[in-house]
Amino acid sequence: MATVTSPVNSPGNAAPPPVRRYHQFRKTIHLICVLIFIALPFSNLMRFDIPRQRFYVFGQELWINEFAILFFTLMFLLFGIAAASMLYGRVYCSYACPQMIFSEASLAMEDRIRRWVNKHFIQLSARVRTFASRVLFYASGLIASVFLAFVFISYFVEPRDLLQRLMTFDLITAGGIAGAATTLITYLDFAFVRTRFCKMICPYGYLQGMLSDKQTLLVVYRDGEAKQKACIECTKCVRVCHMGIDIRKSPFQIECIHCGECVEACDDVLAKLKKPGLIHYTWGEQGKMLGSKDESWWMRIGLRDPKRAVVSFIMLFYFTGLMIALSMRHPVQVRVQPDRTSLYTSNAQGEVTNIFRFNIDNRGSVDATVAIQLESTEKALHLTTSRVAVKAGGSVQEMIEVATAPDALQPGVYPIALQTVSEPGGIKSSFPMTFVMVKKK
Ligand code: SF4
Ligand code: SF4
Repeated sequence: MATVTSPVNSPGNAAPPPVRRYHQFRKTIHLICVLIFIALPFSNLMRFDIPRQRFYVFGQELWINEFAILFFTLMFLLFGIAAASMLYGRVYCSYACPQMIFSEASLAMEDRIRRWVNKHFIQLSARVRTFASRVLFYASGLIASVFLAFVFISYFVEPRDLLQRLMTFDLITAGGIAGAATTLITYLDFAFVRTRFCKMICPYGYLQGMLSDKQTLLVVYRDGEAKQKACIECTKCVRVCHMGIDIRKSPFQIECIHCGECVEACDDVLAKLKKPGLIHYTWGEQGKMLGSKDESWWMRIGLRDPKRAVVSFIMLFYFTGLMIALSMRHPVQVRVQPDRTSLYTSNAQGEVTNIFRFNIDNRGSVDATVAIQLESTEKALHLTTSRVAVKAGGSVQEMIEVATAPDALQPGVYPIALQTVSEPGGIKSSFPMTFVMVKKK
């Protein structure tokens, strides 16, 4: 978590203590998160296309039969949030949780609308202005909810398809109903629930309590000795808190998301009196402050004990493995099975044939071809098909014959290998099979 400092101008010679700027930093991170949230489904960096049963992750198209990678990717995201909680407390809540980001955006929008109406319609009565602000806020919230719900459903339905459903007010198909329901839930959340969800419903705060220990990053109020109390009881730290709590009562309040807004507020107030703020990020209730210069760099970045170092190493190891697994997957997948509904057949040329079923999936974004070759010690055997084309994102099932003249081989079972080369990529595969020759009739 970065600490951004900036001096505060004030009269006099002595410079006031620096003010730690968490609000602007958080808002910048929130904006980046919102842009990522919007960009992910439209760029296929993260999307689960339910109608087509495809999962897009980091630009790769995973098929439903690649469930293992999909599962481990989702588990990585889950472990990532838990590991971040162990290292940095409720950093996810305050910086990256969509519920918190949109709750704060909604509160800020409501506040701005109220101030705008009060400024521009001062001649109206207070009651009319309040009514007008509410109407404007609910109307803006509805527009924002439609947009957010559209982005959210785009994670599961192709965006152009979804837009078409939206334009036709589709309330019949599953996609249309899901879109309407999500819009309604988003609207109720945006307009009425907001941070109440974090306080009353979300289990993450309780989970965080289970993960925390003596070194967990907290927001802590530390005043001087009883006789020299520095707090001037301005209550600005309480007024800026979106969660509606007073951090001076305890650093362990379940509602506190460790956002640092109260840290900045107190710094701001006391800097005017040339005093340092009383609220800090600290490693545990009695621990060092965040960014203390008298600690080693690994302690300052959160690796404060072996447990945290091990968790970080595991996450790095997991991420590397996931990236290797993704980079090693081939866009064209070939599966071959002998068709043993009958041991052999005869073709139009009167040859004895064995049939092999080729299932070819092209999971890439360009058309592919698969060249097939037969490897056998018996020169009399040959393939009747040597190349199969598969469109991008498509699947093909092809019955391939291995054939020989009726009197070319003795009856018996002959080992063969069907070899494939997929393009693009030139990926080679070999499938050991057997050819069954029958007695001449
Ligand atoms: S008490 Fe401070 S850190 Fe905790 S939620 Fe409120 S403003 Fe954020
Ligand atoms: S902002 Fe600081 S000085 Fe003001 S009430 Fe809170 S702790 Fe006390």
